[in-house]
Amino acid sequence: MSKLTLILFSTVLLTLVNACNKDDAETDSDATIVNVTPANFLTAGLVEPITIVSKTLSDGSTADCYKIVVNSLASDHTMGPWCPSNISDDASKGGIWLEGGKVYDVDGAFVKNMATFYKDNTWMMYDATTGAITKTSTKTECEEAANPNVGAQYRNYCVECLPSYVANLSHTYYLPVTPKAASSAIAFGNGPMSNGPSSRGLAFNGVVFDAPAPTSVILAAYTLAPFDDAGGHINLAAGYHYHAATGLTTKIAQADSHSAMIGYAFDGYGIFERLDADGKEYTDLDASRGHTDTTRGYHYHVDAPGNNNFINSLHGEYVL
Ligand SMILES: [Zn+2]
Ligand SMILES: [Zn+2]
Repeated sequence: MSKLTLILFSTVLLTLVNACNKDDAETDSDATIVNVTPANFLTAGLVEPITIVSKTLSDGSTADCYKIVVNSLASDHTMGPWCPSNISDDASKGGIWLEGGKVYDVDGAFVKNMATFYKDNTWMMYDATTGAITKTSTKTECEEAANPNVGAQYRNYCVECLPSYVANLSHTYYLPVTPKAASSAIAFGNGPMSNGPSSRGLAFNGVVFDAPAPTSVILAAYTLAPFDDAGGHINLAAGYHYHAATGLTTKIAQADSHSAMIGYAFDGYGIFERLDADGKEYTDLDASRGHTDTTRGYHYHVDAPGNNNFINSLHGEYVL
C-alpha cells in the first residue's frame, strides 16, 4: 500500500465514520413527534366542532383520536369548472386531466384533439357542426355517467358533477392525536394483501386526498371526468375530493425554506408540498414519500400532480 493510497483510504474511513455520526443524528430526530393541531382545519369545512374520542388503531392499541366531520366541499378555493362547453373554449372554462405524469388543461382544444391524443377514433366528444361539447348536465346524468359500469349511452360524455348535487353530504374521519410509527409501512387499501385505508389524508379544508383516480377505467368507457385546477372533482358518494395537489388549498408556510404544510395523512403525520422554497424536490424521501427532520418529525411530501398520486403508503398506524 503506497502512502497516497493509505491517505486516501484514511479519508474514506473518516468519511464513513462521519456518515455514521450523521445517521445517529437522524435517528435522534425520529424522537420529534408533532401532534395533530385540530385548529389547522378550516371551520367552514366542518359540520361540527372537532372532538377527541378513544379509538382502536391498526396495531390493536387504543388511542385518543380527533373525530373530524366534514362537508366534503372546498371553502378556500373555487370548485370547478371541469368540462368546457365548446371546443372554442379556453383553459379558464375547463379543468385539468392527468396523463403519463403530466397535467393537461382540459380546454376546448384538448377535447377536440382527444381522438389524436389517445390514438382512437371512437373519441368524439363534441358536435362537429356547433362545437358544443357533450357533457352531463343533471344530477342523474352525473350519477349514471360516473358509475364504473357506465352504459354505452354515456360514451363520449364529459362527466361533471356539481357541488349543489352533494350539498347535504358529510363524512366522518379520525386522526390519532399523536402519530404512532408502525413497525413497517402500511399499504393503502384496494390492493392485494392490504386492508389499509384507500384515502390518503385530509386537506385543511376537510376535503380528502383520495386514492389515484381510476383514469384507465374512465377512459375505457370513453368518458372523461376532468379535475378542476385544484385537482378535485365530485362524485355523489365521496363529494368533492382531490386526486392531485396543485397548490390551491390552504397551506401553512414554514419558517425555514422547507415546503408548506397542506394537510394530514390518516396516520396523523403532516403532508407537505412537493418542492422546497427554492423549487427543489426532496431527494431523501422513503418509499412512503416521507422523511424526518427535527422541526416537523416524520412527514410526507406529495407526489407531482401529473402522477395522480399524493403519498405511497402510511408510515404510522391509522384509526380502524
Ligand atoms: Zn375521483
Ligand atoms: Zn420535509
